[in-house]
Amino acid sequence: MRTAQGEHVWEVTIIGGGSAGLSAALTLARARRSVIVIDAGQPRNAPASAAHGLLGQEGVNPLQLLEKGREEAAS
Ligand SMILES: Cc1cc2nc3c(=O)[nH]c(=O)nc-3n(C[C@H](O)[C@H](O)[C@H](O)COP(=O)(O)OP(=O)(O)OC[C@H]3O[C@@H](n4cnc5c(N)ncnc54)[C@H](O)[C@@H]3O)c2cc1C
Repeated sequence: MRTAQGEHVWEVTIIGGGSAGLSAALTLARARRSVIVIDAGQPRNAPASAAHGLLGQEGVNPLQLLEKGREEAAS
């Protein structure tokens, strides 16, 4: 979204780009909101080698899951 002066503005700022923040960004983008995600890049589950209990993603590497989430949100 741009102002009359051509500056880019966002309707929503999400602080934190973990699973929760990226899911929110994806949902808001699908609702045609302009969104920016600010992330310090330190997800809680970074030390884990596999995430469990996610339907369709059982055993996925948490960092790979976030990478895929970032790609989906950016698209
Ligand atoms: C060892 C371990 C294993 C786990 N295993 C599982 C599992 O198997 N299955 C499961 O469902 N859950 C698991 N969890 C819970 C898992 O951490 C959460 O499901 C998931 O990471 C929560 O996502 P989130 O987006 O809420 O938080 P996070 O993943 O912690 O992401 C928050 C993000 O926001 C950023 N951030 C925070 N504050 C700011 C700020 N002020 N400015 C900028 N950026 C900021 C952080 O750097 C981080 O990148 C595990 C947790 C741990 C600790």
